[in-house]
Amino acid sequence: MLDAIRDSVRESADYTGRATLSDRVMNAMAAVQREEFVLPQYRHLAYRNTPLPIEAGQTISQPLIVALMTDFLDPQPDDVVFEVGTGSGYQAAVLAHLVKHVYTVEIVEELANDAADTLKRLGYDNVTVRAGDGYAGWPEHAPFDGIIVTAAAEQIPPPLLKQLKPGGKLVIPVGEHHGYQELLLVEVDDKGEVSRRSVLPVRFVPLTRDR
Ligand code: SAH
Repeated sequence: MLDAIRDSVRESADYTGRATLSDRVMNAMAAVQREEFVLPQYRHLAYRNTPLPIEAGQTISQPLIVALMTDFLDPQPDDVVFEVGTGSGYQAAVLAHLVKHVYTVEIVEELANDAADTLKRLGYDNVTVRAGDGYAGWPEHAPFDGIIVTAAAEQIPPPLLKQLKPGGKLVIPVGEHHGYQELLLVEVDDKGEVSRRSVLPVRFVPLTRDR
């Protein structure tokens, strides 16, 4: 799987602007047992560089995308990060190897509960999972050093920008539901100025909202 990620990273370098990922991120990708986060019937495909179905009609992202998004977040050992869209818990597990604490929110309660169980069983004690709508962020634990959104939003949710520390990064797919989406790297500088860069065309399940 790691070689496939390295090859695809190199092939997409024209878009992303990076031909290699950091050793820390690649080591974290190597450390997480992806087979623990997929449905039993897909275990034999767990280390292919492909997205797979999980419960509730959702997907565990392609390892390449997980690795790239993690690298764009530039995670540091003392960071506290926030994820919207826990899904299987796989992305949260990768981040858990790289930062101090991961807060993650999943809107489908069944998925939130399953992911929390999986992470606990595997010994990840620096991840906190909550069921709910991540659009509003998690103000009680903000501000965050980094925020990663793993479902496609139509716009950048303003509450998430507000919950970023100065110098913080937000990695988020933005675009039409089931249509054209691009992965954005959004940075807030020390003066609060927001800059954004499109790094890759992507396809994510939609960010849904509590009604
Ligand atoms: N990061 C996941 C990928 C999950 S797919 C993994 O590593 O497996 C995206 C997830 O976002 C889905 O599980 C979906 O239910 C969830 N989601 C969609 N809208 C959401 C919202 N508003 N708040 C929190 N989670 C949301």
